[in-house]
Amino acid sequence: MKTMQVLGILYVGIFSFISMPLWSQEPGIGQRAFEDYDQYREPAFENRRFQHQDILPLIENLKTQEQVEVNQIGTSIEGRELYLLSIGSGKKDVLLWSQMHGDESTATMAIFDLFNFFLSEDYSAEKRSLFKEVRLHFIPMLNPDGAQRFQRRNRLGVDVNRDALRLQTPEGRALKKVRDSLEADWGFNLHDQSRYYNAQGHDKPATISFLAPAYDQQKSINEKRGDAMKLIVEMNGVLQNHIPNQVGRYDDTFEPRAFGDNIQKWGTRTILIESGGQYQDREKQEIRKLNFMAILSALFSIAQDSYKSVDIALYEQIPQNDRKLFDLKLTDINHTLEGQDFIIDLGINALEVVVGDSVYLRGRITDIGDLSTNYGYRDRDLTGFELIPAAIYPRIVKDDQELSKINFRELHQDGYAYIRMEEVPEGVNFVDYPIVVASLDAQVDPEVRLGGDATFFIGKDGKIVYAVINGFMFDVTRQDHEIDFNGVLLR
Ligand SMILES: [Zn+2]
Repeated sequence: MKTMQVLGILYVGIFSFISMPLWSQEPGIGQRAFEDYDQYREPAFENRRFQHQDILPLIENLKTQEQVEVNQIGTSIEGRELYLLSIGSGKKDVLLWSQMHGDESTATMAIFDLFNFFLSEDYSAEKRSLFKEVRLHFIPMLNPDGAQRFQRRNRLGVDVNRDALRLQTPEGRALKKVRDSLEADWGFNLHDQSRYYNAQGHDKPATISFLAPAYDQQKSINEKRGDAMKLIVEMNGVLQNHIPNQVGRYDDTFEPRAFGDNIQKWGTRTILIESGGQYQDREKQEIRKLNFMAILSALFSIAQDSYKSVDIALYEQIPQNDRKLFDLKLTDINHTLEGQDFIIDLGINALEVVVGDSVYLRGRITDIGDLSTNYGYRDRDLTGFELIPAAIYPRIVKDDQELSKINFRELHQDGYAYIRMEEVPEGVNFVDYPIVVASLDAQVDPEVRLGGDATFFIGKDGKIVYAVINGFMFDVTRQDHEIDFNGVLLR
């Protein structure tokens, strides 16, 4: 274990030395604070689905802090207060806003972690020099009505990030007003992106992606946009130590209606940070921590002007964002259809469905064919294996109690993945068993097809080896499968 850890550190060290000599410097405050992150982590957030009422007590608490100035800057359509939280006394104004899209909450969590860091007793000399140079202004959760529903758009159904010119949303107007009144030197536009993005040419998720948005159609680079690019290069360097090859760069096509592009145009050095996916981190708690580190590093760099010495050419070397990931990728499976033999790859994605306080996954076949240019969070070479469509269990079970007594592993070994049930509970679409339950009337379509259920078997020489149930893969020859899973209930 110890050796593995040492090797891991060595590997990261060598990697950053070879590919980015510029960044192999002494770790900055961002990286050091990252090591002690648990002390600053705001415990009010355990997952990424929280609402305005959850951040209000935190803002109330900040009002009692002498160092922090809290101002209401507007109200959402449904009457939720929008706040600006400011700290520091320097001349450089840095404006950071999160969750303009209601379902993109990762950076909101990181903002409150940052305040815990600012208000802690640690690094007091470093923070004193930071706040002598900068004044930070945070707008956490710019779109609280969207956050209430965990949806992208605001209460009007408008994408606030396409409202920078027309300014019909109170959220967009508040942001514009603050930017203009501060004439902010720096702007951080904090978002989340799809978990299926990867950094081009790399088989891992793009956990963080950056953009220094263009301010015109020609994608010109003036000094300020250049500064934003340099700061991104610095943040990338910090992140590469923790998530090598998991940082991407967004396409910089000018979007005339977007806030990032316009704020750059209005003279604020603007940086877009997008939080994507990471292994075993659907709730983005690890990604939140990376946000904390990257933003903190950037703030110190702004204070110390250290980004200025960065080689701007390195910006273009950050790989472009690509969208080539699946949750599960299965390759080279033998498949017989209409009496003919084929070799196919399958790309399977599991979409999140919220039911009350629980999040369930619904697995679908997203792509079929030659997927050799794609990647998977899980990736399995199935050369020599064959696809076996799932069958419907011939016995009808009465209710959930009877269902709970079934040995699902044996069922899988016999090729059954669907069970008909007489008494299907109201309003339930998922089950905690590795099975697809169907009411007596429900349509069941076990064919492996594009857009269909990711429920089938994989066998060798006629014997079933793997079950894929609702996108979750199990080895049916083994007793233990300690994975979080859920099945589906078809009504
Ligand atoms: Zn967004």
